[in-house]
Amino acid sequence: MCGIVAYLGENNAIPLLIDGLKRLEYRGYDSAGIAFIDKDKKLATIKRKGKIKNLEKEIKEDMFSNIGIAHTRWATHGEPNDVNAHPHTDCKGEIAVVHNGIIENFRAIKDFLIKKGHKIKTDTDTEVIAHLIEDNYRGDLLNATRMALNIVEGTYGIAVISSKEPDKIIIARNGSPIAIAQNDGNYYAASDASAIIGKSESLYYLKDKEICVMSREGLNITTLDNIPVTPEFQKIEFDLSQIEKGGFPHFMLKEIYEQPEVIMNTIRGRIDVENGDVRLNGLKDYKEWFGKDVNRIIFTACGTSWHASLIAEYLIEKLAGIPVEVEYASEFRYRNPIIDRNTAVFVITQSGETADTLAALREAKKKGANVFGICNVVGSTIARETDAGIYVHAGPEIGVASTKAFTAQIIGALLIALYLGRMRKLGYEEGKTILENLLKLPEQIQTLLKEHDKIEKIADNFRNSKNFLYLGRGLNFPIALEGALKMKEISYIHAEGYPAAEMKHGPIALIDENMPVVFVATKDSIYDKVINNIEEVKARRGKVIAIATEGDEDIRKVADFVVYVPKTIDVLVPILTVIPLQLMAYYLAVYNGCNVDQPRNLAKSVTVE
Ligand code: GLU
Repeated sequence: MCGIVAYLGENNAIPLLIDGLKRLEYRGYDSAGIAFIDKDKKLATIKRKGKIKNLEKEIKEDMFSNIGIAHTRWATHGEPNDVNAHPHTDCKGEIAVVHNGIIENFRAIKDFLIKKGHKIKTDTDTEVIAHLIEDNYRGDLLNATRMALNIVEGTYGIAVISSKEPDKIIIARNGSPIAIAQNDGNYYAASDASAIIGKSESLYYLKDKEICVMSREGLNITTLDNIPVTPEFQKIEFDLSQIEKGGFPHFMLKEIYEQPEVIMNTIRGRIDVENGDVRLNGLKDYKEWFGKDVNRIIFTACGTSWHASLIAEYLIEKLAGIPVEVEYASEFRYRNPIIDRNTAVFVITQSGETADTLAALREAKKKGANVFGICNVVGSTIARETDAGIYVHAGPEIGVASTKAFTAQIIGALLIALYLGRMRKLGYEEGKTILENLLKLPEQIQTLLKEHDKIEKIADNFRNSKNFLYLGRGLNFPIALEGALKMKEISYIHAEGYPAAEMKHGPIALIDENMPVVFVATKDSIYDKVINNIEEVKARRGKVIAIATEGDEDIRKVADFVVYVPKTIDVLVPILTVIPLQLMAYYLAVYNGCNVDQPRNLAKSVTVE
């Protein structure tokens, strides 16, 4: 998920690699490292937790090599620390590997390697690649890498060097991007073109299951099955400032667009469509307890994660029939929450460092509860202090206003609801239908994102609005809350979310021709009631923006503006309806000249209570 840089050529690789890593810095990472062939033709590796400058401090001025690989890590398996940082090496310290992605069958490979006498040093999934190459090495690094890659399952972009063949870098890809460039006897590879810009005018993105040997003789690309590939180099057409945000003007927009991919990352290796079931290794030690004993669940979280918790409540009660309560983490420990041995406490957090959530977690543990996490950042404090849990694998989220992490949290909650449901009341057919529809979501989101122009135009009508109301019912109520929160956070426009039917108990007093009201009004069992609520707003001359289900022509008669979302089953609706609301907040913030990625007064990870 994070960054790779590799270089072979005439110049000193070490400063060049550090410079390349710095260009990947924007992605967010937790540790970094390099490996190179030193003056004695030995493999040298240096790796450090934290910022690239920590790594840079370890580089001595006289270090020279003209071949090396480097990595910034965003941990998926194993805490971010010096040992787990990449590059990873084999038993003899002769082969070094950097890797982006996830090796899904690493546990089985690890057991196999340990039985054969390999010494595994880290908690990462990546390290097995180095040992597999060692295990298969018979005098040909390319062949050994190929054999190793035929054993691993999952996603990878990798770069490999070895002191046994000191003038060669092997690069391969399956699912994680990796680009290659050359210029006058200098060869480069990187997971993101930003690390290559300025070094070469063109690059080639390896395709899945292609493997490339870089040597002083040039580049040689084949498929994993050894079929030769003629690379078509393309001109690099962007400048550094653009590509740092992947061509997007803001990280927030980039992260909104990453949501289809994030969904796949959250579910990867976890769903079993045929059996309508899910596998959650993170909870497996508690499976029996969840299946038999748990009779109540408490979710506790802050901000956007609290909204995801409200969705979790709905999903778990519907699919698993277990009563759920949702608490603000900041309130949780100042009450006297009633917890017994059959209560499961879940915390949801993107960063895993949110101070209020951490305090709630500790309070719950003190009361004897089993506490579980739904968390994005691997190895974070909350991930370490919970008894078990799941990572959502949303990748680094840099925009302060959460978007892709929220979607990933909802998917995480859905997986847990299915997991609990299938052990209890949920039939296989129902599980299967949900999973089949879940797999359609990434494409449906792509379709929805194509409507961005339309959403931008709608936002344009409300440039001067000072207030917004967001209304929805059922699963769309938390989405109304989330839409209002996004609007407040990044555009500084006052916005409130309510259950649609609550409007008549107070907020209706606010409605006049200057009040835009966003209705999340998809076709579901309470659709007709929501239409009545829209009529109530129209009768008072409010301006209605409806988020509706595609094909719903009737809603045009009552709403001033309509954004359609593709049809899906009820439990998946919030994942689609939140997207136009993220975009609307984004466009209004841009119109108002706000700092979208770093809104005033807010921090990405709130580490104070
Ligand atoms: N899965 C690997 C790890 O946790 C690679 C993560 C990355 O892409 O940075 O070490």
